[in-house]
Parts: sequence; structure tokens; C-alpha cells
Amino acid sequence: MNLWIAKGVVLAASAAMVAIRAPHGHRSRTVKIVEDRKGGLEIALLVLAMLGFVVPLVWIVSPLLSFAEYPLRPVPLAGGIVFLAIGLYLFHRSHADLGTNWSITLQLREGHHLVTQGVYRRIRHPMYTALFLYSIGQTLALPNWFAGPSYLVTFGILYVLRVRQEERMMLSKFGADYEVYMASTGRLLPRIR
Ligand code: SAH
Repeated sequence: MNLWIAKGVVLAASAAMVAIRAPHGHRSRTVKIVEDRKGGLEIALLVLAMLGFVVPLVWIVSPLLSFAEYPLRPVPLAGGIVFLAIGLYLFHRSHADLGTNWSITLQLREGHHLVTQGVYRRIRHPMYTALFLYSIGQTLALPNWFAGPSYLVTFGILYVLRVRQEERMMLSKFGADYEVYMASTGRLLPRIR
């Protein structure tokens, strides 16, 4: 199959991700940050994840990563498109439900309230679930050993090193309310009763 099909899919998905985030990011920035737990590790993780997001775009526009290419096949491409689409939908839903409580890093905003409804009802980190679905989709749809899994690996590292810190921050802000919320939700998937 022609590689430009995969390039078009990856480019469209990346553009959709940026377009979904842009208005929410803009709105959140109008609300004052009252607590910032962004340390050196968080900054390093954010840079790493951003690099992981950019590598597929480098693959699209330059021959730099062609050494790691393999043939594009219809089944992984179709599977990748399904994962990308579900990931983008959940990304949109979680941004809509989180509203101006969203931050790219570990921060609390003025009037921050605990969101427990919508896609947050059964899952504590639906936006991270969305990013995992998206990055799995990219791994499947992008026929390159290096660029395909680059966001999955870098976001995976960010997730593993951040999620407990984030929950600690939420516990210190919302106390018993977050404990109750934790008891009825799963981190990335709905809790199995
Ligand atoms: N981990 C969440 C949110 C990612 S954005 C998810 O995957 O959906 C990260 C910021 O969201 C954190 O800094 C925190 O301030 C905020 N946050 C996380 N969970 C929240 C919740 N349930 N209600 C309100 N804000 C939340």
C-alpha cells in the first residue's frame, strides 16, 4: 500500500488532536493557577512526550526515519484508524467534561472543582486513556519501527511517573471526596466490581 495513506491518516489525527485541545487550553489559561507542582521531572517528562508527538511528523515530512520503515498493510492500518478515532473522541469528551480544571501539568486552578461526571464517572484518568488509545492507533497505522511507537513509549513513561503524583495532589486538595471517588473508579478503565 502507498505510504502516503498512512501519512495522511497520521497527519489528520495529529491536526485533530491539536484542534480539539486548542480552545480548551486557551480557556483554561484565563483561570489563575493557585497551586503548581511542576518540578524538574515534570518538565523533562513534558519535553519527552512532546518529542514523542513530533517524531511521527518528522517521518511524514522528511526521509530521516526511512531506515525504520516496513510495508503498510490494510489490517493494521484499519485497526489503527479505529483506535485513533475512539481515542480522539474520548479526548474531546474528557476535555469537555474537565473544562477549565484542565492543565497540561500538575496544577490546581482558582475555583478548582472535582469532576466526577461524564467520562469521569467510572474512570479517573479518561484523558490518559484517550492518549493511550490514540498512541496505540498511531503505532498500528504508522509503518515505522521508530516513529510508530514513539508517542506510545514517551507518553507511557510520562503516565507511569506522573499518575501517582497527580492522585496525591488531588487527595491533598479534595481529601475524603477524592478517596470516595477513587473507590468507585478505575485509573484507565472502568472499575470491575
Ligand atoms: N488525569 C486526568 C486529567 C488530565 S489533565 C485525565 O486523564 O483525565 C491534568 C490536570 O487535571 C491535573 O493537574 C489536575 O489538576 C486535573 N484533574 C485531574 N483529575 C481531575 C478531576 N477528576 N477533577 C478535576 N480536575 C482534575
